[in-house]
Amino acid sequence: MARATSSVRHHDDMPRTRRKATRRLGDELRVKPGTRVRLADVDPAETYGRTQETADDELAADLARLTDFQERLWAEHRHKVLVVLQGIDAAGKGGTLEHVMGAFNPLGCPVHAFKVPTEQELAHDYLWRVHARTPGTGEIAIFDRSHYEDVLVVRVLGLVPEERWRKRYDQINAFEQLLAVEGTTILKFFLYIDRDEQRERFQARLADPDKRWKFRMGDLDTRKQWDDYIAAYEDVLSRCSPEQAPWFVIPANKKWFRNLAVAQILADKLTDLDPRYPPPDEEIPPDLVVD
Ligand code: ADP
Repeated sequence: MARATSSVRHHDDMPRTRRKATRRLGDELRVKPGTRVRLADVDPAETYGRTQETADDELAADLARLTDFQERLWAEHRHKVLVVLQGIDAAGKGGTLEHVMGAFNPLGCPVHAFKVPTEQELAHDYLWRVHARTPGTGEIAIFDRSHYEDVLVVRVLGLVPEERWRKRYDQINAFEQLLAVEGTTILKFFLYIDRDEQRERFQARLADPDKRWKFRMGDLDTRKQWDDYIAAYEDVLSRCSPEQAPWFVIPANKKWFRNLAVAQILADKLTDLDPRYPPPDEEIPPDLVVD
């Protein structure tokens, strides 16, 4: 496959009117270290100058880059990439996996869904099950939920005493720093929808016989604790977004924008890593003919 060229262009090359629409979404959406995030200030329907029509082409190009660079990354066997997906129920983790990560070859891209811990997992510290699933060289590991549940649901439901979960932000930062220093590239996406959008998505699930299975009565209890989850997310985003393991707050009311944003941020990062196919084995004569 022909090498995709980076579509990153310098702002100075562009006419003034196009600047807003073409600013890289990663720059717009990354939580800068030390920022106190207030989700009330984020519009979950924001599209940063994109329209659904213009986004289609941009998304197709980003997905093509994802396919190309993931194959190189797998072949090169040098980089390790960890992608964390978090969001309130119905925020679109599943849709993102399908529409964005669908560009990857599953061989090099394990997806791990973190559920209520098993008895064996609970018998260990909360990072035990997570560390075991971090990516090896050549892999892009995708976490559908993650160790952040241990300061989200665990905090909101009071599953461990506050004095324990309070210490976890620093522990998580130290854990991710260890991964980063040892060569793992980390990207974390918080898919942000508002309460009205969640109601509509729940209602749509209930109305569609093929989607009803996704709905659980417990989802309504979680919905009642909306404000507590938002507060817990704000602490996660504000306290755990260092340079080497950033959070991106993805406005996710519009599914097409959510897909575009995640695809573009991932593709830009893989472009930066610049993975290359390894040279052929020196033992292979250049003019070898297979008969
Ligand atoms: P999803 O909602 O991600 O599609 P499920 O409906 O199976 O999948 O939900 C997984 C559940 O596991 C969520 O309610 C989540 O809060 C819970 N969970 C994940 N990690 C933990 C944890 N460390 N402690 C308690 N509950 C957890």
